[in-house]
Amino acid sequence: MIGLRKINSKVVLCTKAVNRFRAMMNESSFHTTSSDKAEFKDLLHKAQNVVVLTGAGCSAESGIPTFRGSGGLWRTFRAQDLATPESFARNPSLVWEFYSYRREVVLTKQPNKAHYAIAEFQRSLKGEGRSVTVITQNIDELHQVAGAKDVLELHGTLFKTRCTSCGHVTENRRSPIVPALEGKGAPDPDAQDAKIPEEDLPRCDQPNCRALVRPHVVWFGEGLNRGVLNAVDQALDKCDMCLLVGTSSVVYPAAGFAPMLATKGVPVAEFNMEETPCTGAFRYLDAPYISN
Ligand SMILES: [Zn+2]
Repeated sequence: MIGLRKINSKVVLCTKAVNRFRAMMNESSFHTTSSDKAEFKDLLHKAQNVVVLTGAGCSAESGIPTFRGSGGLWRTFRAQDLATPESFARNPSLVWEFYSYRREVVLTKQPNKAHYAIAEFQRSLKGEGRSVTVITQNIDELHQVAGAKDVLELHGTLFKTRCTSCGHVTENRRSPIVPALEGKGAPDPDAQDAKIPEEDLPRCDQPNCRALVRPHVVWFGEGLNRGVLNAVDQALDKCDMCLLVGTSSVVYPAAGFAPMLATKGVPVAEFNMEETPCTGAFRYLDAPYISN
């Protein structure tokens, strides 16, 4: 936690909620002092219900590609070209190749120190009768592999499928997910579309169903899972300390969580490797680009 310091608001902020929050911060008198780290530790020590909100930056060090931003292509596609219900309806084979590739990549990766630290933090607070709720935008399950429990996956997971007919959700870490996807899903721009017949793509395991299943992830244009959102609401309601880890704070609704907590007076600390639109908006910041 080198470089942790209390900060004033600065930089360009992205949204209405954040702007409201920024205005509030400007009215308050926050100063950088040498006691910030101690104060932060003290608050963390007293917190009963901590929320840890994580995003792609948390998994980047494990080598998980996001398929967002420049250079983030699979073949010639951006994630938003494939991660949609329309793309799946049009070409389920192609979309399954994309997700099969992503599953296979993640299966070769390990959680990093951040995942382990969060899992350990959750375990140790639980032992003291306190709670840590991990809310993640990541779909790689690396928090769970590191030992975190009851992770709230805002965007679903690569390792569950959902039936397009009966809606049944199944955990699935098979590699490959079906024989027809063995060796398919190469990311190179000139790779050929495997054109797998629908009957050979992943199918529902419920008796008398056997319909096509899809990745249990939230695609562009889709709403988040109601059950997950309810659990998130409950966690945010009782939260008295929030840590942002590797999240760019630009993907909604997650981007609104921390500003909402901060406006309620909940201390929020940001841990990011890169500057984000919300950097400087919260009470504490730990990042390699700040100097003390
Ligand atoms: Zn089914």
